[in-house]
Amino acid sequence: YRVKRAGGGYAFFDLNQDQGSPIEIEQLTALNHAIERDELRLVFQPIVEARTLRVAGHEALLRWERQSGTVSPETFIPLAESSGLIVPIGRWVIRQAALAVARKQVDCVSVNISALEFQQPDFVKYIETVVQEMGIQPHQLYLELTESCLLHAERYSAVIQQLFALGIYTALDDFGTGYSSLTAVAHLPVKILKIDRSFMVEIGESSVTGVKALEVLRGVVTIAKAYGLTIVAEGVETELQAQALAEVDCTYLQGYLFGRPMPLPDVLLPQEKAEAWQNWYVSTEAQPP
Ligand code: C2E
Ligand code: MG
Ligand code: MG
Ligand code: MG
Repeated sequence: YRVKRAGGGYAFFDLNQDQGSPIEIEQLTALNHAIERDELRLVFQPIVEARTLRVAGHEALLRWERQSGTVSPETFIPLAESSGLIVPIGRWVIRQAALAVARKQVDCVSVNISALEFQQPDFVKYIETVVQEMGIQPHQLYLELTESCLLHAERYSAVIQQLFALGIYTALDDFGTGYSSLTAVAHLPVKILKIDRSFMVEIGESSVTGVKALEVLRGVVTIAKAYGLTIVAEGVETELQAQALAEVDCTYLQGYLFGRPMPLPDVLLPQEKAEAWQNWYVSTEAQPP
């Protein structure tokens, strides 16, 4: 299956038969044009320091705004990954996120990276170029990897090491949902562990299972810290959760309690968001490669 590319040439898609439904082919064709049609947006969710509740940075999250409505990344990221479109889309995301830092709209930003992006031979070079071109500090850009990036640990820990040498830290996202053990993570040059929100369900509850869940988390945090990892808890929705997480010494918290993912003007200027949107968000500046 072949789709004409925005910038000329063709993109080739390796669709399994069960992925080739008319709806998915329609979505894929539309997604292929999403950048040039200016339908992609980044939203930013605050990450706060648990002790002080100071905003430490933001995670950039992708949205696809179609005429028919906003499409969730849970739907289109898998499609972008299986088709390879995640590579140009991911590069757009990285540039836009770095641009937000360059414009001082956020202090530092964390970007989600798919395995296919991470495996591109020029990935490190691309990151380095963006940091230089935007004139930002390397430590203002964090990369969130999932376990799937680390399947071939020997090969890819070298990539993480190269990023580390440039001053760019990586986080392991959604920890606890896959098979990674803490010791496996500790042997990678990963700096940050993001504990998946599925862990939060019973945290803060005074029930037996709630107390047990918190003790498990306390153990994870203690071991992770002993390995020099920084902990971020994802999906914090209640004050009870936040208090319990601070009590077990989780360093950073992220979740709806502290802020939903928001478009940029809302991040810094809640009162002026409407007019500010037009002026602040110049999406045409970031071009796909
Ligand atoms: P993620 O990286 O684990 O991002 C956290 C997700 O949890 C986000 O969903 C966020 O909106 C949601 N969330 C944050 N706080 C709360 C909370 O308190 N409660 C609940 N229920 N949810 C919360 P979102 O934005 O729908 O993104 C879903 C996933 O899509 C992300 O999970 C990430 O894996 C992927 N994704 C998003 N943007 C990008 C991107 O630019 N590139 C790539 N490769 N993947 C992306
Ligand atoms: Mg993430
Ligand atoms: Mg996550
Ligand atoms: Mg996730």
